[in-house]
Amino acid sequence: MKTSEIRKMFLQFFQEKNHRILDPSPLPIDDPTLLFTVAGMVPLKQYYLGESAPLSPRMTSSQPCLRTNDIENVGKTPRHHTFFEMLGNFSIGDYFKQEAIDFSWELLTSVFKIDESLLWVTVYPEDEESKKIWKKYIPTQRILESKENFWQMAPVGPCGFDSEIHIDLGSDIGCKKSTCNPLCDCGRFLEVWNLVFMEFNMNEKGETLPLPKKNIDTGMGLERISCVLNGVQSNYDTDLFLPIIQNIEKLSGKSMNEKRFRYNIIADHVRAIPFLISDGVFPENSKHGYVLRRLIRRAKLSGHLLGINQTFLPSLCEQVIHQMEDQYPKLQSHQDTVKTVVTNEEEQFSNTLTDGYRIFEEAASKIASMFPGDIAFKLHDTYGFPVELTKELLAEKGLCLDEKEFLSLLNEQKQRAKTLHTFSDTITETDYWVDIRNEIGNTTFLGYERDATSAVIRKILFQGESVPTANQAEKMYTIFVNQTTLYPEKGGPIGDRGTIQSEHGLLKILRTFSPVENLIVHEARLENGQVQEGDAVQITVDIEFRRGIRRAHTATHLLHAALKRVIGEYVNQSGSFVEPDSLRFDFNAFEALTMEQIYQIEDDVNYWIARSEYVKTEVKSLQQAVQEGATALFKEKYGDEVRIVEICDISKELCGGLHVANTSELRLFSIIKESSIGSNLRRIEAVVGTKAIEKCRNESKLVKEAKHIIDKPGVDFIQSIRMLQEEMKEKDKEIQSLRNSLLASSACDLIKKAKDHGAFSLLVHSLKDADMDMLRGYADQLRSRAEKPILLFITSTTKDKVIGVIASTGEINCKDVIKHLQSKYSLRGGGNPKLVSIGDLQSSDVSGITETLKEYLQNRE
Ligand code: ATP
Ligand code: MG
Repeated sequence: MKTSEIRKMFLQFFQEKNHRILDPSPLPIDDPTLLFTVAGMVPLKQYYLGESAPLSPRMTSSQPCLRTNDIENVGKTPRHHTFFEMLGNFSIGDYFKQEAIDFSWELLTSVFKIDESLLWVTVYPEDEESKKIWKKYIPTQRILESKENFWQMAPVGPCGFDSEIHIDLGSDIGCKKSTCNPLCDCGRFLEVWNLVFMEFNMNEKGETLPLPKKNIDTGMGLERISCVLNGVQSNYDTDLFLPIIQNIEKLSGKSMNEKRFRYNIIADHVRAIPFLISDGVFPENSKHGYVLRRLIRRAKLSGHLLGINQTFLPSLCEQVIHQMEDQYPKLQSHQDTVKTVVTNEEEQFSNTLTDGYRIFEEAASKIASMFPGDIAFKLHDTYGFPVELTKELLAEKGLCLDEKEFLSLLNEQKQRAKTLHTFSDTITETDYWVDIRNEIGNTTFLGYERDATSAVIRKILFQGESVPTANQAEKMYTIFVNQTTLYPEKGGPIGDRGTIQSEHGLLKILRTFSPVENLIVHEARLENGQVQEGDAVQITVDIEFRRGIRRAHTATHLLHAALKRVIGEYVNQSGSFVEPDSLRFDFNAFEALTMEQIYQIEDDVNYWIARSEYVKTEVKSLQQAVQEGATALFKEKYGDEVRIVEICDISKELCGGLHVANTSELRLFSIIKESSIGSNLRRIEAVVGTKAIEKCRNESKLVKEAKHIIDKPGVDFIQSIRMLQEEMKEKDKEIQSLRNSLLASSACDLIKKAKDHGAFSLLVHSLKDADMDMLRGYADQLRSRAEKPILLFITSTTKDKVIGVIASTGEINCKDVIKHLQSKYSLRGGGNPKLVSIGDLQSSDVSGITETLKEYLQNRE
């Protein structure tokens, strides 16, 4: 049975049982404690936490997931992947254990027609209810108890027992013991489905209290069930993987039966890569981008070890896109981007791969048995060499790795980069705001239509404590109201500012934000009088401030469109910050923009401003919006209804923020700076409106003033500056030659100070602020005046370093001298037998070196 049919059957089965089929959510998420969607329930977290209500309490999905913690298992076990699809059915306060178990049994035995006698389950020892339900279907000896069957989202919060369904793959697999059961990890039993029964709330004391509404969350690995239904013994032998592996075979020219795990690693990773890139992830050195980079490099290394030398990953990714595009159409529309990004990253890694090998060879040639852990760590960390590759290479040479040192460095790093698979930290923070919202009700936002509104004060906090009145002038209060016109900070733009005026007092709002859906928080300073809970007030937006935000915000949409036009469709926004009339826009790109590109982007945006296009906003279903090609950012959370901001045929983005009505309001757009903020990540800083006009005026003022100072009549301004530079260079040369002749005359006196050491004499001298050229010239001067074989050691101290030369009249080879010094001091020298320059002297070493040179000359006799 084809895997695509299995996916369809699962979704249809639950649809017939009144479940709403959910669209797949993106892989990357922007949760402080979780980088990726690791299970089907992750996109539904808000519903489980009670932050918002789903459109239907029964839902089902086939959700792409990424588990980086399983990366080490990939290739080793037949059932673990980094990227896999999780089939799930979910109930938010609707059905519970009975139906969840009934549904799973019906699907597995009646729809998928799995032999009942092969099914086993595990349950939590105290979960009597589940045991009872299972007993209807399964004999008691195949219902096992395990303390592992407890699930929690985080140390505090919703939790409950779970029950796993395992399939017996046959007694000829695994340990072959007659007592073998799903609690044995020999591989005979395959966990296919986990049913989670969320019924408790764990408090900080570790007590479990019943949840007001019980929930169901289940997860079944699509690749695993496909493996079972197709009667193969490994997920990697299913139709999802085998065609890819056969292609890798063609590329390597070797049979997949040799080093099969390497084929599996490549096949696994090339499935994850197109999904990540289509979701806007780009290779970087941190977070989502680092995981993508790691997957690409690991696949490349495996290819390398299979003898594939050419760039091969883009073609495999393309194969995956064709295989999956029916179910995931966005793969198709990002095909070009996937190709560009993967080719670039693979080629880039080809370069470090060679360097990494060189470092490995160098280190390996120096040691007798134990390979240093820090070098293995450097290879792993800097050159992207997985440690198992290093170990394999070492084994070929009969060497082994200092694993202890490597692991301790790795652990240190892991400690730094730890990403918990829980939502722990967010929960308390979110709970706090949800509690407030439950207490006072939603805040209605009216600011799309108007700038001011009447409202009622619902709650006041002073230094985190609830107070009835704000009455201390100049102090900050947190104010909650029933409705407001101020747009809160979420995503790029900063929140609105404004005022709250009551009959008896005035508050100035300095910050507006929305920590949870439907709650808008105002942080305000009491200007005068007092404001009380229950007061009727007037809320007014600071209109000038808002206009500035609107202009800069619309400019980010235009800039995004211009970047895609000028640089490439693959460019995606990865962050932004919008203030009145100024903006910062982060995006992925392979290299710095050229001046031409920057001008082109400015020209595009200014042309669109001049075209006076209307900015249209419309509310639609998320599905419809994405189908119509609106750009969605994965870091944003979207509900089922979304707002689309459309500027003629120029730009169409999902965005809840405030915009100008017409592009002409922006007046002018000007880029201040373009810079790198990480690997393959760039930032543009720009201004619009008043700030852009001010910038242009300031720049022209600057030029006028400079012209006033240096302009020469009849000469072009830039030409005048160049002439000045030339004059300075000439003067520098003159100074240099004067210094040289001064040195020459002092050389005659200095050479007399050389001290004899046996057959040779030694002259040590130090100068100030001489550069290397001067030192060499000086050494020549001195040498030509020497009357017997001489060795010179001349140093120069400059502001930030000490440099030096060692020179001789030819009888002594200065290269030998430097080698001798290098055995005692850390220095680098280069030159010829008569003169060696040293660029990195330690001032504390100079006297020691002098002594060493004396001994050296003495010993030559
Ligand atoms: P395992 O113990 O086999 O790693 P798990 O306990 O981590 O599984 P759950 O977190 O309960 O799995 O996920 C639910 C289902 O998702 C599993 O029953 C399995 O079918 C599937 N699944 C989990 N991890 C992976 C993976 N790395 N690759 C493929 N499928 C997976
Ligand atoms: Mg697992």
